[in-house]
Amino acid sequence: MNARNNIERCSFCGREKRDVQLLIAGISGHICDACVEQATQIAEEELRKKGKRLNLDNIKALPPVELKRFLDEYVIGQDEAKKCIAVAVYNHYKRLTVKKRQDDDVEIEKSNIILVGETGTGKTLLARTIARLLHVPFTIVDATVLTEAGYVGEDVESILTRLLQSADYNVDAAEKGIVFIDELDKIARKSDNPSITRDVSGEGVQQGLLKLLEGSVVNVPPQGGRKHPEQKMIAIDTKNILFICGGAFDGIERKIGQRLNTRVIGYNNAKDTAQIDRNNLLQYIAPQDLKSFGLIPEIIGRLPVLTYLHPLDRDALRNILTEPKNALIKQYKKLFRIDGVELNFDADVLDFIVDKAIEFKLGARGLRAICEAIMMDVMFEIPSTEEKGVTITLEFAKEKLERINANKLKAA
Ligand code: ADP
Repeated sequence: MNARNNIERCSFCGREKRDVQLLIAGISGHICDACVEQATQIAEEELRKKGKRLNLDNIKALPPVELKRFLDEYVIGQDEAKKCIAVAVYNHYKRLTVKKRQDDDVEIEKSNIILVGETGTGKTLLARTIARLLHVPFTIVDATVLTEAGYVGEDVESILTRLLQSADYNVDAAEKGIVFIDELDKIARKSDNPSITRDVSGEGVQQGLLKLLEGSVVNVPPQGGRKHPEQKMIAIDTKNILFICGGAFDGIERKIGQRLNTRVIGYNNAKDTAQIDRNNLLQYIAPQDLKSFGLIPEIIGRLPVLTYLHPLDRDALRNILTEPKNALIKQYKKLFRIDGVELNFDADVLDFIVDKAIEFKLGARGLRAICEAIMMDVMFEIPSTEEKGVTITLEFAKEKLERINANKLKAA
């Protein structure tokens, strides 16, 4: 026996005992601390992948009513949009789980959704909330970063790269995922005449998207972008991917109004005009309005479920502050409770915050910025004091907000 065999060393990396911090002995070998750490990482990664692997047999699709009830816990109002999403997601699951019978040539087609509503009315929130419930891969992408292939920006295929990443590169799972494309209105055609100039960010991108929406096999760069030209492409079939699109479509009310007017004049029916609620024209949105706005008809055809979100009124904003499961006020109270401090708001403070959000035209997005402005000093000081309770009064809130101008809040 030579001396080398007597030296205790790690059976994985071969390092000697004196070169490592710790060497653990097993029945017929040793392992060093570095290898333990690496093995733990590998094990975690593999188990995570296994856990995420899609097993459709175990998925119990929640019926639409329950899906909506879940959305109600986080999103205020927007009942029509919630119903549409609940039904589409439920059908999506059904399409994935029902085994196709040989003698049955009825194929359930997917119903991609388009949500139209002002910014800050809850489109992304709806998508994020439904994602919490899902057992399929889900990703949110912003249409503004997409450009036609060959231009600065991201190719349309990057959408699938993200989905693939959220599925931990499990192609089978990604092919059954859900994608939320935000700000679809930003890729609307800018001019009515499509052929005058090349429309890098508009129609070209819509054509690219069409390919994904209608279901085709797309070669996807697994790392995304064009920075890794050597990467091997992965083929993804988009036939079963559900697309939910959202957009503010600023100014679409005018197109809706124009259409309604012509229709009314056409029929010469005065009663129709009287029934139209001019304050909320969005509720009458129809596919042809999207076309007038600059979406190509083929895209509209691939987004058969068209629904809208209401602008948020005073009551809705007030509810958003306190009602959802993770409402802003609940979050502040929790932050203080962690430090053993009981936080309270006088009721008129909440009304004041809503008034300011409306005054500054900030909508729901502004609520947080306004709350932060009011709470900043208290959050700074309280942890260093012995206080066990704080009440925010109207006077205090007004004083804090006076020093902040609306532009600063808008930038927040
Ligand atoms: P967008 O319609 O522009 O996608 P978001 O969903 O991003 O708007 O909304 C911005 C924020 O405003 C959300 O994070 C949420 O805090 C709040 N919010 C907007 N609409 C609602 C709503 N209907 N219910 C509850 N919170 C809302």
